[in-house]
Amino acid sequence: MKNLKNALLLKQLYQLKQLGYKYTSVTAYKEDEPDLTLPNTLESLKKQSLECHLCTLSKSRQKVAFGEGNQHAKLMFVGDTPSASDDSAGKVFTGRSGELLTKMIENVLKLSRNDVYITNILKCRALDSQTPSPAHAHTCHPYLLKEIELIKPTIIVALGELAYHYLTGDDSPIEKVRGTLHTQSSYTVIPTFHPNHLLRNPSAKKEVFEDLLKIKELI
Ligand code: SF4
Repeated sequence: MKNLKNALLLKQLYQLKQLGYKYTSVTAYKEDEPDLTLPNTLESLKKQSLECHLCTLSKSRQKVAFGEGNQHAKLMFVGDTPSASDDSAGKVFTGRSGELLTKMIENVLKLSRNDVYITNILKCRALDSQTPSPAHAHTCHPYLLKEIELIKPTIIVALGELAYHYLTGDDSPIEKVRGTLHTQSSYTVIPTFHPNHLLRNPSAKKEVFEDLLKIKELI
């Protein structure tokens, strides 16, 4: 809830900045205002994200990479940011890390990508020299919260530390928490390594395989 309030505050500050304000007091923020009215269908939510300019990543992206997959999926995967190939394709988890994620879903979980829903914390890619900041992630967070609200998954696999942090509010390193269950209000978060980490460290595949078997048991 605190994350959502922070996102609402940041959104209002960004909007004021876009209107030309240079200095804004947070006391001008009215928490009760129905400010963050996001659409109640995935199609409309995606459409809104495609036109989103709420944070500076809108300047660095080529295309918005909104989530995709089964709109009634019980299993959701959440990564961190779009890759360079996602950015040019306007799709999530393309390229080598996407291929690896697809293999994990098909070969271990015995599902297809069409059975699950896949998204990221951030919908836009930063320039190579620009690291997405907590402000970017907070500003984009309401899109993810709405995707979760609309899809209603029972299990969310957090791919990497950033996804785990934003889904649970816990700052623990991924090495320490991978494979553990974190019950949230209406779903359970299971963190594991991001496919990019596996591409750099193939020896970590064994741990991810164990995590996927645990997920398979749960579904
Ligand atoms: S990263 Fe999210 S908040 Fe920022 S411009 Fe893209 S869709 Fe909007």
